[in-house]
Amino acid sequence: MIQFFNVTKEYDKGVIALEDINLSINKGEFVFLVGPSGAGKSTFNRLIIREELPTQGQLMYEGKSILRMKKREVPYFRRKIGIVFQDFRLLSDRTVYENVAFALEAMAAPVSEVKYKVPQVLEMVGLDHKHDAFPQELSGGEQQRVAIARAIVNNPSLLIADEPTGNLDPDTSLEIMKLLNNINKRGTTIIMATHDKDIVNRMRKRVVVLNKGKIIRDVEKGGYTDEDQCHTLLF
Ligand code: ADP
Repeated sequence: MIQFFNVTKEYDKGVIALEDINLSINKGEFVFLVGPSGAGKSTFNRLIIREELPTQGQLMYEGKSILRMKKREVPYFRRKIGIVFQDFRLLSDRTVYENVAFALEAMAAPVSEVKYKVPQVLEMVGLDHKHDAFPQELSGGEQQRVAIARAIVNNPSLLIADEPTGNLDPDTSLEIMKLLNNINKRGTTIIMATHDKDIVNRMRKRVVVLNKGKIIRDVEKGGYTDEDQCHTLLF
């Protein structure tokens, strides 16, 4: 589904954020992207959604070059991808229902579709009883559920989650992970950048470890090991 071929990203002033990355992610996979701050995780995700272009290399999404995509195709391409952030990024002056509906309305979805899909997705994330609440009336975990509902309401084939549990306590984080796991089981590919060792070790999914822009480990059903930590401390 996603392929990186010898991808290097160098920002201005010679900062090499990613160096010679080769990686394939198959449809339906759940991939943890781990590594210390500055390792290149956000850059990796920004390249996939074409927010940045690589300095060298090739990037494919569903067999098509992301780089050769025409500018006018980019918005359509991004619709296939849902994104969830650490800080939720909900609209504070809109209710739960309106926040989720907004994602559909932005795609010019008909009213009938909005009325049908929003309650469905809110039920899936366990928040159907809170549809009239405003974000500030919700707990952190509930806000993240709304953000996830908003990210999946368009039925994306890929969900990118950037530290989605970074602001949540361990129990709430586990609930969010259960939800992401369910979404993955329904067929959505998930890439999740995280620092949370406990979660990575519990879930036993594919783990790609980045350090200073390079992949230092890529294992199926892996964990975030002390060795990775040593690597991080030593190099
Ligand atoms: P992570 O998400 O793992 O913390 P990033 O991808 O944000 O890592 O950053 C990788 C490296 O690239 C860091 O050295 C960071 O300072 C640098 N970097 C990230 N974004 C930019 C940018 N827009 N301009 C210049 N350097 C950047």
